[in-house]
Amino acid sequence: MADKSFLAWPFFEDRHRSFHASLEAWSAKNLPVDHSDVDNACRNLVTRLGRDGFLNHTAPVDGNGAPDVRTLCLAREIIARYDGLADFAFALQGLGAGAISLFGTSEQRAWLKKTRAGESIAAFALTEAKSGSDVASIEMTATRNGGEYRLDGEKTWISNGGIAGFYIVFARTGEALGAKGLSAFIVPAETAGLVVAERQKTIAPHPLARLRFDNVRVPASALICKPGDGFKIAMSVLDVFRTTVGAAALGFARRALDETLQRVTERKLFGAPLAEQQMVQGHIAEMALDIDAAALLVYRAAWTKDMGAQRVSREASMAKLFATDRAQIVIDKAVQLHGAEGVRSGSVIERLYREIRALRIYEGASDVQKIVIARQTLGGA
Ligand SMILES: Cc1cc2nc3c(=O)[nH]c(=O)nc-3n(C[C@H](O)[C@H](O)[C@H](O)COP(=O)(O)OP(=O)(O)OC[C@H]3O[C@@H](n4cnc5c(N)ncnc54)[C@H](O)[C@@H]3O)c2cc1C
Repeated sequence: MADKSFLAWPFFEDRHRSFHASLEAWSAKNLPVDHSDVDNACRNLVTRLGRDGFLNHTAPVDGNGAPDVRTLCLAREIIARYDGLADFAFALQGLGAGAISLFGTSEQRAWLKKTRAGESIAAFALTEAKSGSDVASIEMTATRNGGEYRLDGEKTWISNGGIAGFYIVFARTGEALGAKGLSAFIVPAETAGLVVAERQKTIAPHPLARLRFDNVRVPASALICKPGDGFKIAMSVLDVFRTTVGAAALGFARRALDETLQRVTERKLFGAPLAEQQMVQGHIAEMALDIDAAALLVYRAAWTKDMGAQRVSREASMAKLFATDRAQIVIDKAVQLHGAEGVRSGSVIERLYREIRALRIYEGASDVQKIVIARQTLGGA
């Protein structure tokens, strides 16, 4: 059973503790799901998470901006502990709807009713083949023509690509060079000219696609905020959701430790449980330490945002960087302490080993988080 002592930390209120208990019970009953058809699995997960009220926490209903980040982090941590694909389905409803919940007009916020109910799947389309970490060099264009915009270009590695009901698409409107010439649009999946050019497979499968936009026309009302605000919108959304990526990594790491504790207690070698070997205890201590340190950074960042900070770039980057990098190490130790069982295809530990890797790449690779932290630290010197 995963450690829950952190719930007594001052970052949390009673509402967080009762949310934790109800989602823990739901997850124990409903997860993991069958991953053999990831599209259907994700559709079903979104429907069930919506029906049972958990997606209400991914976006506020009343136009108040950011969701409660501590609740989002608790949700991702719990769900990731049971099932990485379910965490993905939950998280993308928040990330995909993030630009609308933070900046949308009341008309645009109608989408949130659907994402919260699990009736429409959301997606966040920022990355292009030539502009992964270098967001300011996005090439996709959006050209104003009377009362509409015309979008042309490609997006790649888009989560929920192929199953989303709508995409938040970032494109160049050209108010200035670089970051200040980007804008964000809401593009319904069925819009003419938007096609799934390729389904992309990874070591931990989930719905992903390369999307082509060929003369895609959307009304001017699909623009979020003002022309030229796209980069600010993308970074503000990532400011909220990067911390939650750290929370998902924390969930994976906690599961790896739980599995390892059971293994080293039950496995007898040299006449005693493996847990009695001091070098094994050294690994266990390091795993527990990494998990607590990651949790402190994750919930510090979440709490700071919830307390009203406009931007938490430094805190969110620290949380994501540390929690994801250390979870990789915790899981690697779990593989080692499981021996051959740790690399058996289909085992929990093998699944965690595959699932953690991408978290150190998406929503800003680890090196990019270091740049953010260094800039903020140097700026404050
Ligand atoms: C599973 C998965 C899901 C994804 N989902 C989405 C999604 O829903 N929406 C979306 O828009 N994108 C998504 N992406 C794309 C993701 O955001 C990008 O992969 C990421 O931003 C990195 O871009 P890149 O892959 O082009 O790597 P590159 O930008 O080519 O970078 C490669 C590596 O170079 C290093 N690096 C880069 N810049 C620097 C620097 N300045 N200094 C030092 N080192 C550096 C880093 O180690 C980085 O990992 C997803 C990716 C994956 C793997």
